[in-house]
Amino acid sequence: MRLILLGPPGAGKGTQAQFMVEQHGIAQLSTGDMLRAAVAAKTAIGLQAKEIMDRGDLVSDEVVVGIVSDRVDEPDCAKGFILDGFPRTVAQAEALDEMLEQKGLRLDTVIELAVDEGILLDRIVKRAEETEGGPRADDNAEALAKRLSVYREQTQPLIDYYSGTGLLSSVDGMQSMDEVRASIETVLKEIA
Ligand code: AMP
Repeated sequence: MRLILLGPPGAGKGTQAQFMVEQHGIAQLSTGDMLRAAVAAKTAIGLQAKEIMDRGDLVSDEVVVGIVSDRVDEPDCAKGFILDGFPRTVAQAEALDEMLEQKGLRLDTVIELAVDEGILLDRIVKRAEETEGGPRADDNAEALAKRLSVYREQTQPLIDYYSGTGLLSSVDGMQSMDEVRASIETVLKEIA
């Protein structure tokens, strides 16, 4: 099973992806986590990405597409994977289509977690407070506002993009965590 989880920062993509990892034994591919690991390890990509991430902007399409392409080839992705935080632009979505075609793979579904923007700030503030070892560098008011505007401008168009392919399902992300989880499982059963 190969799927995309689409939604703004704070929508719960990471939490729901973790549930799916446990339930279905597929891999979670979070480009945000991969980039944060690169920053922590001070790799060339990490050094380049840090400042961009800290201010809430997007790292270049080329860099993230390269990271995802390499990651998809790893053995733990053989049973499938959840793309969490990728694609984030139409150009990334097009690159993903091409990449999967070259690898002889296809997407099964795209699940949108639909949430009211008003609650995102509260959720992210809460996440920042609960993060072990301190909040993420981009969990502050300024970077968050930027991340939300970047989402609206660059990522939201993907809803139309995937709607056009017939792959898109929308789940109400305002429900409780367990209800969202159950709604996602319903979508996954429908496509199985
Ligand atoms: P996330 O953990 O998904 O919220 O991502 C944190 C930050 O990493 C984002 O604000 C971007 O700076 C960067 N990032 C993660 N995924 C992507 C992507 N697909 N394209 C560009 N930048 C990304």
